[in-house]
Amino acid sequence: MIRQGGISDQQVDTIARRLAERLSGSSAAQAKFTVKQNEPASAFREALGEGVFATVDAAVEAAGIAFRELDGMSLAGRQKIIAAIRESMLEHSEELARHAQRETGLGRVEHKIIKNRLVTQKTAGTEVLTPQAVTGDNGLTLTEYAPYGVIGAITPTTNPTSTIICNTIAMLSAGNSIVFNVHPSARECSMANIRLLHRAIIRGGGPANLVTAVAEPTIKSAQTLMGHKGIRLLAVTGGSGVVEQAMKSGKRAICAGPGNPPVVVDATADIEHAARSIIAGASFDNNIVCVDEKEVIAVESIVEELLQQMGRQGAYVLTAGELHRVEQAIFSEQRGPRQRAVVEKDLIGKNAKEILLRAGISCAGDPPLLVARVPNDHPLIWTEQMMPVLPVTSVPDVNQGIELAKEAEHGFGHSAGMYSRDIDALSRMARTINTSIFTKNGPFFAGLGEGGEGYTSFTIASPTGEGLTGPISFSRLRRCVMVDHFRIV
Ligand code: NAD
Repeated sequence: MIRQGGISDQQVDTIARRLAERLSGSSAAQAKFTVKQNEPASAFREALGEGVFATVDAAVEAAGIAFRELDGMSLAGRQKIIAAIRESMLEHSEELARHAQRETGLGRVEHKIIKNRLVTQKTAGTEVLTPQAVTGDNGLTLTEYAPYGVIGAITPTTNPTSTIICNTIAMLSAGNSIVFNVHPSARECSMANIRLLHRAIIRGGGPANLVTAVAEPTIKSAQTLMGHKGIRLLAVTGGSGVVEQAMKSGKRAICAGPGNPPVVVDATADIEHAARSIIAGASFDNNIVCVDEKEVIAVESIVEELLQQMGRQGAYVLTAGELHRVEQAIFSEQRGPRQRAVVEKDLIGKNAKEILLRAGISCAGDPPLLVARVPNDHPLIWTEQMMPVLPVTSVPDVNQGIELAKEAEHGFGHSAGMYSRDIDALSRMARTINTSIFTKNGPFFAGLGEGGEGYTSFTIASPTGEGLTGPISFSRLRRCVMVDHFRIV
């Protein structure tokens, strides 16, 4: 497109890129610059450079050059880049958390700091890319993890910076470069994140533009990225819409979709512990994290005790009348029993107190979570509400609880969990629900490695089966065969 000033998008971008490359190679690498135009299009009022590009084409081209440079580097060089990224992201975790909360209006700063630190410290790096060797009478076969090239990554508004940090560490560890198309509602914090990553990579001895982004991301630019010939692999993190779109793209796509994680509590559980852990999990970042507990299914004999314990441990237990008012506030449309309701967008990720206020209920404190007893077919059980309003429903026995949990999870195969001391029941539910993450006797964020063991990921690919993605998910397997030699025994 030719703008009023007589310069095309492409020309502006080329100038921006050259400047960025020059800056990134000099001591002025930290500096950002602004390309001003007579034309008021906001893309050009923004700071371009340091990985941020005006168009998908320009970002893919720059990331392609960077990929080839990275490909020529040693593994030790790649490890140095990852170490520099971890150092920088740790330093900036709080600033990025505040920025994300301020811009999106979702969640709680203190929890976003935890998320940023978690992905910075516990996303797997190059150490997991262990080659496999098979030897025999016919020689040696070696299988190694190779990069794809340029990955197109689409990120959500719910965990904007933690997804970018997590994807960057995992994808670069595998030797790829990245073009991000971030959620438009989290654009500013995401661009700030990209710039910090860009600077860290240069400090770590890496090339410019290993991590790039489209300055003005839209659904259209996401779709352009998905269809771009320079993109070898897609990694999308978001709701059903973006997953469907990526699967239609004709490219290999790693898709992390929605969830509606149920938690079952049976009669053998430690109820006090269950209440405390469920509150911690379901209120984490005001319930916007995809793995957060979204509905509780308790056996009848302990459901009242569970609710009492939740009340004692700080949750606000709604009366039937209050629940009705909360429903009016949080749902813009209800579609009947066992159907997903449409949630009020402006209450997603808000504090429980704000939801109470909107419902006309006064509350002296600042409860982390609202809890309500509901029938099995209540829309809250069937909806991924992404707000700190947790329904608790009851069933006659644990087997019926497991069946209801499976239905309420909608077959997403994302996350679920159970509180029980009955190992048969725990195993039965784990097998039946068949989710990427199953957490026993702990808050679901433990399944992400926060207070639980193992690597973390904020791109949990259930529809395409990778589960918690990491460097291996973003690698191609390549085999090299030596016939008749190289066996040492
Ligand atoms: P969203 O689907 O609205 O947006 C996610 C990204 O996809 C954004 O960048 C958006 O611009 C893009 N997008 C949306 N529709 C698109 C389309 N048709 N074509 C191309 N791009 C499109 O999701 P959100 O509100 O940002 O995040 C919340 C949702 O994401 C929840 O459903 C949550 O469970 C899910 N989520 C899943 C994971 C996971 O690891 N499985 C992680 C975070 C969020």
